[in-house]
Amino acid sequence: MTPDVFADLVGQDEAVDTLRRAAAAAAAVLRAGAADRTPALIAAGTAEASGGDSMPPGADPGAGMTHAWIFTGPPGSGRSVAARAFAAALQCVHGTGCGECPGCHTTRAGTHADVRLVVPEGLSIGVGEMRALVLRAASTPSGGRWQVVVIEDADRLTEAAGNALLKAIEEPPPRTVFLLCAPSTHPDDVSVTIRSRCRVVPLRQPPAAAVAEVLVRRDGIAPDVAQWAAAAAQGHVGRARRLARDPEARNRREAVLAVPRRLSGVGAAFDAASALIEAAEAEAEASVAEADTTERAALETALGAGGTGRGAAGAMRGAAGQLKELEKRQKSRATRAQRDALDRALVDLAGFYRDALTMALRAPVAPVHTDTAALAGAGAQKWDAEGALRRLEAVLACRVAIEANVKPRIAVEAMMLALWKG
Ligand SMILES: [Zn+2]
Repeated sequence: MTPDVFADLVGQDEAVDTLRRAAAAAAAVLRAGAADRTPALIAAGTAEASGGDSMPPGADPGAGMTHAWIFTGPPGSGRSVAARAFAAALQCVHGTGCGECPGCHTTRAGTHADVRLVVPEGLSIGVGEMRALVLRAASTPSGGRWQVVVIEDADRLTEAAGNALLKAIEEPPPRTVFLLCAPSTHPDDVSVTIRSRCRVVPLRQPPAAAVAEVLVRRDGIAPDVAQWAAAAAQGHVGRARRLARDPEARNRREAVLAVPRRLSGVGAAFDAASALIEAAEAEAEASVAEADTTERAALETALGAGGTGRGAAGAMRGAAGQLKELEKRQKSRATRAQRDALDRALVDLAGFYRDALTMALRAPVAPVHTDTAALAGAGAQKWDAEGALRRLEAVLACRVAIEANVKPRIAVEAMMLALWKG
């Protein structure tokens, strides 16, 4: 039996249950619409989202299908996996997300005509992009089911883009469904008004055993490697897969975990800060370099760069503007990739000090990093629980500072000094 579309949602039984029931309710709405030939209205899942909708016969009001959803959870918990699985279930010809029918297949492959996926590449999603999206989402679904719009990183909407989206969510076309993904429903991530129109599906950090299980089953990774990677990735499924498969990702992690024993003085602390920043820059550069080159070549070809004929000078002036626009987009993507790489390193480092803390407290929990457990144990003896906690807090404060736009180098230097001084 082929696993259904929810099989990749690791350790999220409650959320999967909610989504299965909603998909069944959505299918009932379509059946009711087909039976009485009136436009189907969606049964509201929450009182505040009900608006003026009336319930079509056959839909289960308690099962809750609604126009707008927010998937929340920590990084790696599978927000976008959940949103895409639900999109597939909505397009599934059986209304279940069977994983086998054309609706499921095309949605998962990203080729379904009625599913639009917004993946912001830079630091924010702009208003122009959002307006165009909302406009297209209002059209009648060509496959006769739903128009689904998935917005990954809805926390990166600009305020204007958020307002454009809000208008669409406030007066949704009858067959349009918005699926937003965000770390939380905190007002910093999603505006209160958007939140009030959406049903929330909270995802939790999946347990390491569940992550290891999916690495073995889906990716064919050896069980012992899968278990190590799942623990080291701290519940981040994609990160666990990278650690299990990519030797460079393992090397970078090892370099980060070498930081605590290198902090022998002020100079060493500054050196460690530089090394961490430069490693994040190098990793980010590697991750975007290929896309940058391909995009630039494609644009230059499209613009006919190097033309010498009449009118070429004028065309080149227009081309310069477009190249500038591309460079701006690429720079924004590079900045985001750098922040993501640095944040991953900080999460690894936090795991180390967490291990030292739990050991100092003799808490009966498995270490995050089994391979540096001895070193963490030595730290626990030297620093005690309080010293380990102060260091853990210094790492977390650095993450918060960078999130709040403190220059990464300054935040990391302050952190390294705090880690050294304790
Ligand atoms: Zn299906």
